[in-house]
This record gives sequence, C-alpha cells and structure tokens, in this order.
Amino acid sequence: MNILSLSGSIPEQVCDTIRFFGHGGSQRISHYCQYAADYISRVLEDEGVDGVVFPRSCDSSRTIGSYLEGCGKFVHQFHVPARRDAAAARYLAGEIRRYKEAVEGHYGTGITDMEERTGLVNGRNRALGRLYARLPELCYGAYLDMLHGLLQRPLRGQRVPEDLPACACPEGPRVFVLGSTQAGTGLIRQIEEAGLHIVGDRLPESRRLFSVPEVSTKGDLYENIAESLLAGLPSPSQDAFAEILKEDRDELVKKQVQGVIYITQKYCEPYDYLFPAYERMLDGLSIPVLRVTETGGGAGNAALAIGTFADML
Ligand code: SF4
Repeated sequence: MNILSLSGSIPEQVCDTIRFFGHGGSQRISHYCQYAADYISRVLEDEGVDGVVFPRSCDSSRTIGSYLEGCGKFVHQFHVPARRDAAAARYLAGEIRRYKEAVEGHYGTGITDMEERTGLVNGRNRALGRLYARLPELCYGAYLDMLHGLLQRPLRGQRVPEDLPACACPEGPRVFVLGSTQAGTGLIRQIEEAGLHIVGDRLPESRRLFSVPEVSTKGDLYENIAESLLAGLPSPSQDAFAEILKEDRDELVKKQVQGVIYITQKYCEPYDYLFPAYERMLDGLSIPVLRVTETGGGAGNAALAIGTFADML
C-alpha cells in the first residue's frame, strides 16, 4: 500500500504512509491553498499512489475528498476534534479505530503490529527531539531535508542520524521559522544563504511532530494514541491562539530569538488568522517579524525581502 498523508495528525501507529511535501501539479484551483491543490494533483497524477488520508481541519482540507471522488483510490478523511478534553480523546480514539478498519477493509489486510509501531514512533520522536535540541549548532536546512526524506519512508526504514553538518553561520542573527508544512526546503536555504541562523521552529513536520508525549502500550492503545496526539503542540486550525502564543513565547525567549520568519501559503486561513495575534505577541517581546507567502511557484521575491530583513537584524 502506498498511502499519501497530508498532515502530522494522521496516527503513524496504524500503518505506513508517505508524507506529502509538495508537487508542482496541474491543479490550479483558485481561492484554494496551493499546498492542498498540489496534494490533489499528486494523488490524481501519480500512479504509484494508491491511497490518501487527510484530516478534516482547515477549509482546504475539508473539501479535498470532493475533488478526489471517483479517483478509484483509497480515500479516507480523518476527523480531528477542535477540543483537548476527555470527550475529545474518546472521539479521536474512535476515529483512529475507524481509520484502521477502513485501511483493513480496502486493502484486505489485518493490521496487527500497532504496538510494535508505537514503540518505533516513540523512539524516532525521542531521537528527533534530541537533534532539535542541538539545532543552534546544526545546519537547519540539512535538518529539514533529513526530516522530509525520513517521513516519506516506511516507519521501519526511518533512521534518525546521530549528527548533521554544523551550522555555517553560527554568528548570524538568531531566527525562528513558523508556518504550515513546507513544500520543500528552498525557502529555508534562502534564509540561511542570507546569513540568518535558524535556531528553532514551529513547523508541522518538525517541532510539532515530536512534541507529542510518548504513547504507552498499556491499556487501550487507541485512547493512548489519541491522548498523545491531543497533548502535542497546538495547531492554528484546531486550537485556541492563546495556547500557541504561550508555547512559542517560551521557546522564543529560551532560544534568544532576534527575528521571526512567518511562512504561509496563499489562501491558508489558519495561519493568516493567527498572524495578527502572533505579531502582537512579538511586538511585546520587541522581536521583528518577516511574513513570506508561498504562492505555489515558490516564494516570489522572498530572497530580496529575506536579505533586507537580515540586514535590518
Ligand atoms: S493548514 Fe493551510 S497550508 Fe495546510 S492544508 Fe490547510 S490551508 Fe493548506
């Protein structure tokens, strides 16, 4: 099975999926986030993909299923609650079970290795957390490249390296990046080439991925996975902005961040809505922010803006 997944909220303990990071596909849906449009293109055009799983979270992801109707592949929408209490955990546990049964039904296979997979996810996340903690001394671009490659491989083949190349600009201004999942690492390379030193992030494929607590295999595994997913870093599509601001304020202060680069997709409402609140929080900390919007064809004249921001810092 080759299932393409869109988001970190899809539980990896159920089965392998290939995490989607970008594809310059033919779908150009106006007033639709390009990341989701590229995802739809990849599903429709890539014969190697035989299934898809995506969350019901933002407006774009909510309607992906309608564009994929009749594509002949396994199509599953995973519902994630917009609360973090015990009722939400029970609901999410039911969704995880429904996802597992849908995979089993479509592919005619029994899934019996969820406990083993849980141990593998726990171990991988621990290793990623250790690398992230060393980011000030490591090359962030190499770190994100490694992550993107890792998440497109089956869980059993995911090896987190012990080390990565050293940061080439350790004396540069310390910046933090946040936004929706990156299509690739081109923009990150531009930031580093401008002499900025990326010391932390809030990206779904990085800090948010391994922010979830370890999942216990004792008791009800579905509920344990659900509780862990709900205890990870909050998301602007599901959670209150105040929770996001609190978590990030602590990280920014701890890492002595001097500037923030806020990367968003055109028509990505969750991150557009979050921006004014985030900007206010940064104002209070006297940290300047540069907002960069990806449009599908790259980040336009981002290099110029990033260079100017670097000079200012
Ligand atoms: S969160 Fe933003 S980038 Fe991600 S699918 Fe939704 S609209 Fe697109």
